[in-house]
Amino acid sequence: MKRNRVLIIVCICFLIIVAILGVYSLTKEKAQTTIDVSSLNLNNVAKESASNVNSYVNIAKQAPKSISYAVPIFMYHFLLDDYGEYPDVENFMRPQTFEEQLKYITENGYEPIFVNEIGNIEEYTKPICLTIDDVFVYFYNNGFPLIKKYNVKVTLCIIYEYINGENYLTTEQIKEMLDSGLVSIESHTMSHIELTTLSEEERRRQIFESKKKLEEDFGIEVSTLCYPVGDYNSEVIELAKEAGYKYGIAMTGGTYYSDYNKDLYTIPRIYANRSMSLNEFANYLRQSYVTVDW
Ligand SMILES: [Zn+2]
Repeated sequence: MKRNRVLIIVCICFLIIVAILGVYSLTKEKAQTTIDVSSLNLNNVAKESASNVNSYVNIAKQAPKSISYAVPIFMYHFLLDDYGEYPDVENFMRPQTFEEQLKYITENGYEPIFVNEIGNIEEYTKPICLTIDDVFVYFYNNGFPLIKKYNVKVTLCIIYEYINGENYLTTEQIKEMLDSGLVSIESHTMSHIELTTLSEEERRRQIFESKKKLEEDFGIEVSTLCYPVGDYNSEVIELAKEAGYKYGIAMTGGTYYSDYNKDLYTIPRIYANRSMSLNEFANYLRQSYVTVDW
C-alpha cells in the first residue's frame, strides 16, 4: 500500500515536471518567434527610414547647379551727430539717419546678413549687409541700441590694437554685442595701416595676428579681412588666403554681384555717408536678389 502511494507520487511529480517543461519550451519558442519577427520588422523599418532620411539629407546637401545674387553691402564709419573738427564729414552718419535706414530695411522685408553668411546665400531671398569700419565707441552708444530695436545684424570690422583704447570699444562691450547675436566681429588688422606700404613681415603680422587674437579673445571664427583704407594688392590677397580668411572686403565698387565680382577677396561695398538720402539707400536695397537653380 505504502509502495503504491510512493509510486503514484513519483508519477505525479514526473507528469508535473514534463508539463512544466512543455509549457516552458512552447512559451520560449513563441517568444523567440515574436522577437525574431519584430526585430526583422524593426530592422526593415529602420533601414527604410534611414534611406528616406538619407535621400532627404542628400537633397538638402545637394549643391545648387548655379546661384546668381546681388547683395548691397554698406560701409559705415561713425554714428554721430557732431563731427567736431574732423575734416571728413561724410564719415559721420547721424544716428537718426541710421535709424530711418534700419526701419526701412525691416518694414520692407530685407534680410540683413553677416559678411560671413555670403557663403550660404541660397538661404536668403532679399539679403543685404551692413558693415561698420573702425568701430569706435560711438557705435556701441548710438548704433547698438538701434540694431537691437530693429533686430538687424551688423558686421563690425575691428582694429585689434585699438581695443580698450581712447574712444574705442572695450573687451566687455564687444562681448556684450557678440552675445546679442546681432553682431559679428571681423578683422580690420592690428593697427589700421595701408597693407601695401608695409614690409613683408609687418604685413603678415597685421593680417595673421589680428585674426588669431580676435579668435582667442572672443572665441569666434574670423573669416573676413577688411583692408584698411581699402588698400590691397595680389600679395595682400595671397596672405589673406594663407591666413585662412574666406572673404576680403574693399571700400568701393557698389553692390556685390556674384556674376561680375567672382573674387571673394575683392568684395565691393557701398559708402553709406552722411548725405545719403533714404531714397538713395532704398535704391541700393532694391538691387538685392538671389536666384538659385537646383
Ligand atoms: Zn578703416
